[in-house]
Amino acid sequence: MHEITLVTGLFEIIKEQVAARGIESISKVRLKVGELAAVEPMTLTACFEVVAEGTVAQGARLEIEEVPLTGRCRGCGADFRIADFNFTCPSCASGDVAMTGGRELYVESLEAVCKGDHQ
Ligand SMILES: [Zn+2]
Repeated sequence: MHEITLVTGLFEIIKEQVAARGIESISKVRLKVGELAAVEPMTLTACFEVVAEGTVAQGARLEIEEVPLTGRCRGCGADFRIADFNFTCPSCASGDVAMTGGRELYVESLEAVCKGDHQ
């Protein structure tokens, strides 16, 4: 399953953050996921909850921000939303289009309690 691989990768990042920042618990994870990553948010959330169990991220809320597929025409410079994988410029009909968004897949932020936060 695609999503479990993603979640495993996500937890590698979380573990690095936990070690680097002395995180005790995580309350929220914000993810940016591009349209092209073809992730099913419900499945991703379910996988996250399973993998998070028994870790500092147990009970954390997963927020998924989906990024639409966008492109820029190399001919006329127009920026546009790519629908139905139609990589044709709507302004000049050129097929020379560079992808500018939609491949994202990363942790945007973690809301966490660090060891130093306690008074
Ligand atoms: Zn164009």
